Amino acid sequence: MPEFEQLVASWGHPTVHARRLLRRYYMGSGEVAWERLGLPKGFRQRVEALGLMSSTVAARQEDPDGTVKLLLRLADGQMVETVLMADRRADRAAGCLSTQVGCAMGCDFCATAQGGLVRSLSAGEIVEQFFHLRREAMRVGKELRTIVMMGMGEPLQNLGAVVPAAHRIGWGELGAVGFAQITVSTVGLVPKIDELAASGVPVALALSLHAPDDATRQRLLPTARRYGVEEVLAAADRYQETTGRIVNIQYCLLRGVNDSPEQARQLAALLEQRRMHLNLLAYNPTGPGLSGMAYEPPPRETVGVFLDELHARGIVAHFRRPRGAAIDGACGQLRARVCR
Ligand code: SF4
Repeated sequence: MPEFEQLVASWGHPTVHARRLLRRYYMGSGEVAWERLGLPKGFRQRVEALGLMSSTVAARQEDPDGTVKLLLRLADGQMVETVLMADRRADRAAGCLSTQVGCAMGCDFCATAQGGLVRSLSAGEIVEQFFHLRREAMRVGKELRTIVMMGMGEPLQNLGAVVPAAHRIGWGELGAVGFAQITVSTVGLVPKIDELAASGVPVALALSLHAPDDATRQRLLPTARRYGVEEVLAAADRYQETTGRIVNIQYCLLRGVNDSPEQARQLAALLEQRRMHLNLLAYNPTGPGLSGMAYEPPPRETVGVFLDELHARGIVAHFRRPRGAAIDGACGQLRARVCR
């Protein structure tokens, strides 16, 4: 906002026009009903010359469960995925945004990891995904209410763009979703978790734990060789303390890898003294991982036993079924197929 106000002032116009235009822009999914704004002569042309949206929809997939996945072509020809997901309430939807083209984190079970990192997205490219998804939501009569930055990339490796993007999407003055509705995920980059906490943008944090012990976690997530389980959870504690936001622990269940009752008990021991939410996710198969291992989701009964062990120890845990099973639902799958 201040940058745009300065620009408008440099054109010789009152800054109030910047504020009015941005509000309309954010509330109207990146489109503006210019006629109704009553702006000074030449103002529209100047703004349009800046180039409002740089990305276009290159492919679109829709699952019968309501999930819509878009593959966006960016100005330099790179492709990035963004996803609209159904909410518990029929009139609402959630959006999942990417923060990088590819990813450098190398998580073994992830399709995005396969091609490595191409580049980080700018704040504008992240915000544009929000507009594309809001348009999709409006098309089916839904309100885009929650945003998770959990798509392609490690958001905390791109904090310089993620923080301003979260600020624009979350800032109530622009009529967008509100900070309470935004979650930023990480595989556990400890110094960056502290940096996000210090940024003053009060988004929620989702920490991908995926295993209760260092040995299993290191098999799955290369970053775990640098930051152990206790260290990432201590960073999550600090985040919670600084921001007052409850941290969500993400745990993707992989058959025979991290789904045993013993691992559920270890996980419970880590979380029972903490006030955090645990989201269990079933793996969405994407073919062999970087190590060559072909992961599978656990059978339903295994998930039930895992959940029972957690609930018996008072852990707040929910199981989320995989979405988009009839399309390339897993993160990075559609891009990998189209860009092959
Ligand atoms: S799971 Fe996330 S952090 Fe890990 S490689 Fe995939 S996109 Fe990157």
